[in-house]
Amino acid sequence: MKEYIAYCGLDCEACEARAATAANDDALRDRVAKLWSELNGVEITREMINCTGCRVSGVKTPYCGSLCPIRRCAMSRG
Ligand code: SF4
Repeated sequence: MKEYIAYCGLDCEACEARAATAANDDALRDRVAKLWSELNGVEITREMINCTGCRVSGVKTPYCGSLCPIRRCAMSRG
């Protein structure tokens, strides 16, 4: 569904952070946090793995919610 395509082109429907949030699955949150920590070289905690999707209302991961320059640009320009 188009509303789940992020401003950057990522498919939020395929995102495991969104899946963990939708299912309130802490085991999946832990797996995603471990993987994303390794991939990004920063500590990402279980508590950060909460997101409903880039372009829909609700909670976001710290990166997609406030750090992503593409999302900030798109939202500032409507
Ligand atoms: S906005 Fe949320 S659901 Fe979409 S890619 Fe980012 S973390 Fe995943």
